[in-house]
Amino acid sequence: CGIVGYVGSNKSLEVLVGGLRRLEYRGYDSAGVAVIDEDGVLATAKKAGKLVKLTDELEAHPINDGSTGIGHTRWATHGGPTDVNAHPHLGDDGKLALIHNGIIENFSVLKSELLAEGYTFESETDTEVAAVLLGREYRAAGDLQVAFQTTVSRLEGAFTLLALHQDQPNLVVGARRNSPLVIGLGDGENFLGSDVAAFVEHTRRAMAIGQDQIVAITADAVVVTDFEGNAVETEEFEVAWDA
Ligand code: GLU
Repeated sequence: CGIVGYVGSNKSLEVLVGGLRRLEYRGYDSAGVAVIDEDGVLATAKKAGKLVKLTDELEAHPINDGSTGIGHTRWATHGGPTDVNAHPHLGDDGKLALIHNGIIENFSVLKSELLAEGYTFESETDTEVAAVLLGREYRAAGDLQVAFQTTVSRLEGAFTLLALHQDQPNLVVGARRNSPLVIGLGDGENFLGSDVAAFVEHTRRAMAIGQDQIVAITADAVVVTDFEGNAVETEEFEVAWDA
């Protein structure tokens, strides 16, 4: 439902939780975050219920966050609103985390394929299928952008996806089809959001991502391609916002 991503030099959790708060108006039933911590290890927290459940969890089990992360508020479509079904979902190596808005229409076909290969699932969501598939493709490609290309080519339906992998700790990659995703351009930091509310506190410089495109952000670079990996042109705009 609500999506925020960050790569920069500030602590990521404050940016992510702040962004999720700004996206609360859309409604949601669960919330979660995945960050690369100070030791370069993937760390996640997720809870059914309001954002305060997530922030309570982060107080009870603190994460020493670094400067790369993704955050999600979920509006359940596949699988009830439980802690386990909340996003992020992990790849089978435990080093990759993914969040998703929308519905992956062909998830049961893909899930059967992955089960037959020996992969296992913890949740009832369509989203976890995309996470496990992306993990499989990452193992083959060794690169998150390339893994995104082969993953999204298998997905049908509506999706905004964001993911990170601890072996590429300064990178967040996203993709969209029939579901929105916007880039926020900062100074030594960049953002992704399901809408500009996710990052308008930090920057008003934004770029739209077109249908069937993949975006990769680091602290000082933004690369947008189509699903085949060909570079595409993007245009910057100024967010008009009465904050
Ligand atoms: N279909 C996904 C789920 O039920 C994502 C829902 C959303 O857009 O928040 O977990």
